[in-house]
Order: sequence, then C-alpha cells, then structure tokens
Amino acid sequence: MNQIYMDHAATTPVRPEVLEAMLPFFGSEYGNPSSVYGWGRRARQALDQARDKVSEILGAEASEIIFTSGGSEGANLAIKGAAWAYQKKGRHIVTSAVEHHAVLDSVLWLKKQGFEVTIVPVDEEGMVSPAEVEKALRPDTTLVTIMHANNEVGTIQPIREISEIVRNHGALFHTDAVQTAGVLDIDVKELGVDMLSLSAHKLYGPKGVGALYVRKGVRLDPLIHGGAQEKRRRAGTENTAGIVGLAKALELAHVDREEENARLIRLRDRLLEGLQKIPHTKVNGSLVQRLPNNVNVCFQYIEGESMLLNLDLRGIAASSGSACTSGSLDPSHVLLAMGLSHEIAHGSLRLTLGRDNTESDIDFVLQEIPVIVERLRAMSPLYQR
Ligand SMILES: *Cc1c(COP(=O)(O)O)cnc(C)c1O
Repeated sequence: MNQIYMDHAATTPVRPEVLEAMLPFFGSEYGNPSSVYGWGRRARQALDQARDKVSEILGAEASEIIFTSGGSEGANLAIKGAAWAYQKKGRHIVTSAVEHHAVLDSVLWLKKQGFEVTIVPVDEEGMVSPAEVEKALRPDTTLVTIMHANNEVGTIQPIREISEIVRNHGALFHTDAVQTAGVLDIDVKELGVDMLSLSAHKLYGPKGVGALYVRKGVRLDPLIHGGAQEKRRRAGTENTAGIVGLAKALELAHVDREEENARLIRLRDRLLEGLQKIPHTKVNGSLVQRLPNNVNVCFQYIEGESMLLNLDLRGIAASSGSACTSGSLDPSHVLLAMGLSHEIAHGSLRLTLGRDNTESDIDFVLQEIPVIVERLRAMSPLYQR
C-alpha cells in the first residue's frame, strides 16, 4: 500500500547525508570535546565547525550560538533565562495566543512565579498585529516572545515590524523559528531579534538537538547547571553527533531552499484548491503569509480524529487540532484564538508537505479525502440535519 507522510510540521526524516556526517561520532570519534588528547580535540573541532556553520547561516557569531536539546529547551532557556536575568529591571512578559506550548507554558510557569504576562490576540488568520504588541508593552516589560511561523496553520508573523517596536521600547525579543529554520531567511540581524530558537528534527536532522541564538551582551540564567560547556549557559557534555547532524541539515536546507519552497508551494496550492472543492470546508490561516508546506482545513460536521484514523487506514499520515490529538478536552488553542468555534475546530486537518512528497502523492490524497469526508458525514447526525 501507498505510504504517504504528510506530517512534516511534527517531524521530518533524517537526510542520508546528515546521517552519514553523524556516524563517525557514534563510532571511532567518541571523544569528549572537553578532553585534551586527540579524541577530544577531534570532537571539539567538529563542534567548532558545526557552530561556525550554524552561526554563519544565522548571520551571527559563533559565540552567540548555544546548542540545546531542541526547540522546547531553546524556548525554555530563552524565556526563563532572560526573565530571571532581567527581573530587577522588570517582571512583565508579552507573548501571543498562538505560540507553541514550549513558549506558552514557559511563560505561564513564570506567571505562577510572580511574573506578569500579557497574551496578545491574533486575527482570524492567526496573525499577530505589531500594533497589538506595541499596545501590550509596559515600562516593566523585559521580554517579548512571538513565533516566526505557526506550526499548526502556517501563518508567518511580521517579525521585523514587531522586533523594531520591541527594540525601540528597550525590551528583549525572542522568536521561536522552529518551523522556519531551513525554510525562510533566518538572518538574526535582518529579523532584528535578540534570541532565536530552532530544532534539528524539524529540518531533516536528528531529534533531541537544537540551537538557541543569543545576541552578544544579552544575559541568561542557565536552566542546567554543572560544567562550563556552552560558555556556562548550558552544562552537560555536548551531543557531538547530534550537533554535527544539526549543522549539516541546516547547511543542506540552505543550498536549495528557494527551489524547494517553490516546489512545495505548487503542491500546497494544488492541495488547498482540491480540498476547497469539498462542501463546508474552510481553509485555516493566511493564504499569503503562509509556510510553503502547510495545509490546514476544517471539514464541518466531522471529527478530526476520525479523519486521521481513516487516512491512516489508507496509508496517509496527517495531523489534527482536535481534542484527542492535543491530549486535552479542548481543541487547538491556535484555532480557538483565531475565533473558530469548538465545533468547527474539532474538524481540523493539517497536512504538512516535505521533500519526499510528489505530485502523485497530492493526486492520491485528493482522491481519498473527499471519499472519507463523505463517508464520515453520512454517519454524522449533525450533518443529517
Ligand atoms: C516542534 C516545535 C517546537 C518544539 O521543538 P522540539 O525540538 O520538538 O522540542 C517548538 N516550537 C515549534 C513551533 C515547533 O513546531
């Protein structure tokens, strides 16, 4: 049977070149980068090269990169680390209603510790307005964290405009770029950000490794105390293989990201167009400021969860913002923040394309989904009415 993976916002396969670059560090090159002998020096050299590559792509200096265990740690370190380090200056943090839980829950945890939090709303496309961010700023605001692009609906935020407002106000700005690293330009000077987090497994690298850019001069209290690694900002023996894999994956992504984006946009738009022909279907997110690989729609009168199970039976891997998927009773906080009703949000389907997807995958999915939708609606009492 066909096996079609369309959940690249959840994770991506490791590219063969990435695996190849990593392998020596699971084999003969097992040295600890802090050791002085040959094994250690070779591991250190690999780390240094990886740091140079990553910093170059971000338009940063090598010393401004902290390797982490992924996007969640990056967001936690940026947010909690900066909030603590600057708490004498102020204890107010601003974020948006559509952030990944790594950001939202870090901010809400700080709220429990006595910080004050403003959550900026979004419009019906999931867009954060720079004016709303400006309105939220206070004299005691030390940190603003707004994602570069949303993982559920693919909306790309106006980061440059927002960062300028935040900078002029004198607060720090972090962006969660997990969905855009390897896809969009993530030059930190262009974006005007003080901190930026990314994750390897979302860009065809390994799981459990990421990077956090921290502009020179920005102070962070570490989350993990211990050794002097990462300039005392993140203790623990470095994940040499993972870091080498991250750098390779990011480097490869940047070789052909523009051609690949153009290809993905063609596939995405065909898919969106085909799905919109199904009655009572709504596209979620912006049609203009949208990630090249993101398709997100709501089929009215259907449970996203049943959709996923039916797609799985046909070999198609996708995702939904319905309640069961999110592990809570409520459907996706992102869709709700965009003003969708609970009922509509329960019928959401996300298809996120990737390098291996082809035109014939789109054909197959467009052949299968209408049939499944029709079958599920035939069983839905709401639809009958
Ligand atoms: C996946 C994801 C994260 C978390 O990254 P991990 O490396 O899985 O911890 C954070 N933010 C966004 C937008 C994501 O898509």
